[in-house]
Amino acid sequence: MTKIGTPLSPIACKAMLLGSGELGKEVALELQRFGVEVIACDKYPNAPAMQVAHRSYVFNMLDPVELRRVIELEKPDHIIPEVEAIATPTLVELEKEGYNVTPTARAAWLTMNREGIRRLAAEELGVKTSPYRFASTRKEFDEAIKEVGIPCVVKPIMSSSGHGQSTVKKAEDIDAAWREAQEGGRAGAGRVIVEGFVDFDYEITLLTVRSSSGTTYCEPVGHIQVNGDYRYSWQPQPMSSVALAKAQEIAKKVTDALGGYGLFGVELFIKGDDVIFSEVSPRPHDTGMVTMISQDMSEFALHARAVLGLPVPAIRFYGPSASRAVVVEGNTNRLVLGNIDEVLAKPGVQMRIFGKPEINGHRRMAVILATDESVEKAREKADRAYAKLTCETLPRE
Ligand code: AMP
Repeated sequence: MTKIGTPLSPIACKAMLLGSGELGKEVALELQRFGVEVIACDKYPNAPAMQVAHRSYVFNMLDPVELRRVIELEKPDHIIPEVEAIATPTLVELEKEGYNVTPTARAAWLTMNREGIRRLAAEELGVKTSPYRFASTRKEFDEAIKEVGIPCVVKPIMSSSGHGQSTVKKAEDIDAAWREAQEGGRAGAGRVIVEGFVDFDYEITLLTVRSSSGTTYCEPVGHIQVNGDYRYSWQPQPMSSVALAKAQEIAKKVTDALGGYGLFGVELFIKGDDVIFSEVSPRPHDTGMVTMISQDMSEFALHARAVLGLPVPAIRFYGPSASRAVVVEGNTNRLVLGNIDEVLAKPGVQMRIFGKPEINGHRRMAVILATDESVEKAREKADRAYAKLTCETLPRE
């Protein structure tokens, strides 16, 4: 039986978010709706989730000593990783000492780098993936490229959102791919994965919830990535019943192996009726932001429910929907998003502004959501709304 005591009192149910971006902000809001005391952590101040949490801590979550210090200070009932860049071996230790880590410390550890999850899926579970090799040195890298073949995709094992990722289409691209992977990884230079290029028809995220009710799937989310970073997503992605059944089977296998309660974003490539596993996030997924308009419980609400040990008896899907990420270029701590009245002028359009404190390069700052009779119409509506938006980047202050 789940009990939730008064927040900010000694009987509070405390949840600590490790990572406070736009996805963490929505999880924080959903936990707040259950009266949970929310503590937000990240490496920079005023991160989106910190702006809606009860308290926050700014520290390097990759530092095991600091991570343990903050967790022992707060003694949260639930530790909820919201990013990959965390000292996950410390989470494994803390879990052994009695802390609850979402969905499990092992899941956070295995998915922290591409090698852990790829080897689990392909080598232990026998799930179909692209061919792959890992390489730590330039010599190993050249051998890996030879074995996997061209075209292939090169990614640092510690990276996300397309950082350090590139596609080798011809032999002349090899040097640049190595350089890019060495410069773009989260932990700086290091090990890379070389993956065979999958010529997929489309790619999906299958949002999969493990809760006290068992395993439940959302309608498949289709999406388009630009340089490894999501720009558009929609739901439902039309799929053959054979491909959908295979996708659910893979999602079940992988999420069962990771275990625990929570929502997972299972990323899959689809070609005809063939389904190829790419990777999994043991937490809400950026492409799943579309569920803020398409379902009675968004992926964030589902995550909060599952984490708290509450049931997810069913998910009600409202209808075709789309999301359009607002990615802004510049170097500023003063962004003005304008013409929002026009963006929201049509029925069935919503917008979320994340409130990130600054931009240095390019950064996702907001998302536009739309519903309509069909996925095509929802996408067009989101695009039209996006075209109305103005972004003014004022000089830094
Ligand atoms: P990832 O960070 O691994 O999710 O990769 C980001 C995006 O790059 C994916 O969503 C795909 O659009 C593309 N991508 C990654 N790996 C491959 C691959 N092996 N073959 C083709 N496209 C890929």
